[in-house]
Amino acid sequence: MAVIAVPLSRFETVAAALRSLGGQARPVEIAQEVRRLFPGPHTDNLLQSVRARIQECSSDSHHWKKKRDLFYSVHGIGGGVWGLRDMDPLNPVNRDGFVDYVETYMAAEGTATLRTHLRRERSKSLIERFKKELKTVACSVCDFDFGKTYGELGCGFIEAHHKIPVARLEPGARTRLEDLAAVCSNCHRMLHRSGRLSIEDLRSRLRR
Ligand SMILES: [Zn+2]
Ligand SMILES: [Zn+2]
Repeated sequence: MAVIAVPLSRFETVAAALRSLGGQARPVEIAQEVRRLFPGPHTDNLLQSVRARIQECSSDSHHWKKKRDLFYSVHGIGGGVWGLRDMDPLNPVNRDGFVDYVETYMAAEGTATLRTHLRRERSKSLIERFKKELKTVACSVCDFDFGKTYGELGCGFIEAHHKIPVARLEPGARTRLEDLAAVCSNCHRMLHRSGRLSIEDLRSRLRR
């Protein structure tokens, strides 16, 4: 029986693997997923091939071929993590309960930094795991509980704030659950408005 080689050079293969991984991953993981999804003979430099396809199809890369724009750099070029644009949590098309427009945040950080920050705290799979771990869904700054005020509609609603400033993160560092804090929408905006306040700082500033 003839073995049909998988068309590894194709960007669809990379996109399919990235989609299967939840929309964000490193080239090493994407290459592993390509192998898993498309068993068969693979080129020795699969990893290199995956990297090349991503760069050709990403306007974030200097190697962009200006044809397709399927991938984005999650933490900026050099961060090592790539995302699928149509699964980007900041893409208005992909809105869920957490997603809001970046522009509504009064960012003391630059827009690019803020986008990176918001992408970290709005990864759907991460938020789901984060919420499962929470003992209470009240705001960790002001104790506001959406369920208590809005009843059933607000039940279980809370936002996640990434506590480590993007500038202090190691390039490509993964978001850990312990880096996230549960905050209400008001406190979340105040944290971004200041740009520097920690959860404890903001808490100590509350006037009631
Ligand atoms: Zn709050
Ligand atoms: Zn935040």
